[in-house]
Amino acid sequence: MKTVIITGGGASGMAAAFGASEKARVILLEQNEKLGKKLYITGKGRCNLTNAADTETQLQNVVTNRRFLYSALYSFSNTDLMALMEGSGLPLKTERGGRVFPASDHSSDVIRTWERLLKSRNVEIRLGTRVTEILTENGCVTGVRAKCGGREEILSCDALVLATGGLSYRSTGATGDGYRFSEALGHTVTRRRPALCPLTVKESFVSDLQGLSLKNVGIRILGSKKALYEDFGELLFTHFGVSGPVILSASSIVGKEFEKAPELTLLIDLKPALTEEQLDARILRDLQENLNKKFRNALGKLLPQRLIGTVIEQSGIDPEKPVNEVTREERKALLSVLKGLPLTLTGLHGYDDAVITQGGVNVKEVNASTMESRLIKNLYFAGELLDVDAMTGGFNLQIAWSTGVLAGRSIGEKEETDGV
Ligand SMILES: Cc1cc2nc3c(=O)[nH]c(=O)nc-3n(C[C@H](O)[C@H](O)[C@H](O)COP(=O)(O)OP(=O)(O)OC[C@H]3O[C@@H](n4cnc5c(N)ncnc54)[C@H](O)[C@@H]3O)c2cc1C
Repeated sequence: MKTVIITGGGASGMAAAFGASEKARVILLEQNEKLGKKLYITGKGRCNLTNAADTETQLQNVVTNRRFLYSALYSFSNTDLMALMEGSGLPLKTERGGRVFPASDHSSDVIRTWERLLKSRNVEIRLGTRVTEILTENGCVTGVRAKCGGREEILSCDALVLATGGLSYRSTGATGDGYRFSEALGHTVTRRRPALCPLTVKESFVSDLQGLSLKNVGIRILGSKKALYEDFGELLFTHFGVSGPVILSASSIVGKEFEKAPELTLLIDLKPALTEEQLDARILRDLQENLNKKFRNALGKLLPQRLIGTVIEQSGIDPEKPVNEVTREERKALLSVLKGLPLTLTGLHGYDDAVITQGGVNVKEVNASTMESRLIKNLYFAGELLDVDAMTGGFNLQIAWSTGVLAGRSIGEKEETDGV
């Protein structure tokens, strides 16, 4: 029987161990003291483990290298995952936007279910074991060098799955080892950057707005020559810039633009439901109702209290001015700020706050139908280590499960055809 080593006991590594264990002896090596350390914190501790949408819709939510993921997402789909979890005693529920969670709302239950599955398949789980080198001979994987409690050992194998994840939330074990191993073996690793992360803003006034959440705003992000991104949703101000669902999604699309230009412009439409004409009429009405007040006291119905000062400052209108002295031009200036509060974006906020890493092992060097390296025989890849990523909604974990199971099963299939 073949011996398979899985390096990394996160989402994709556990799935790979499960897939490989159908036909092989499997050793799962994880440097942390427990499996799935990052999984614990997913979905704010509830683990949005997949999305209930059909596979085509899931593929539409893949940002990088969609075509590469066709085989994986079809061969171990979200319905396969859900059936596996529910069949293993983990009831699930589907929430808004097709997001699937454990019914218990505890990510620990997802990890426990995988642990149970792996134990039932006799997978040998070695915790506290860090792989330090991948060993090859004549272009073929032969084993790994690993460290456990200061002791170094060499473990031989017939096939290896690298499932070491990305760079975000380093404390979960995201050390970047997999990229180094891959490069040492001749693979190229595409440029990496944090994604699904907050964005930093130049204007220092954003720190005064820290904690303010705007539920329904439109955003537009502009480069020097063209509009790059447009969306609608919830935005949150932080002490360094902007965050919230609408910004996280934007970061995955515009992140690479910061490599070409140091600054981008963010325009926040504070009243996306109103056309300029409708909003102008609304402003006129509000002003007419407050003719004898100071301007700064006339916008209470239009804006959250904390935002009024910023909007007035941006519009250039004297806040102390009596409303009945506000000119038509000033009203137009206010309208323009309400439809596009401008902020200067200076970059991605970094891996500590990023849900995922964009970039990774070049998928051109990996067989999409098996996840096997095209350069090194019996070397397989799974999960975030690869140059693939998707939007929020459970899609990234589904990529980890699907690529993991496909890699693991492919090793078994190869055993049959190769007769190893
Ligand atoms: C805060 C947060 C919330 C998230 N929420 C969601 C969500 O709700 N839904 C969703 O779909 N996605 C979510 N994600 C993304 C998701 O967690 C990742 O896409 C997924 O965990 C990737 O799985 P992976 O197996 O590739 O990597 P990981 O889960 O990071 O696992 C990699 C493992 O490899 C181990 N390892 C690394 N190097 C070595 C080595 N040399 N030797 C031994 N072991 C090693 C690490 O310790 C780690 O345990 C979230 C991410 C974060 C940070």
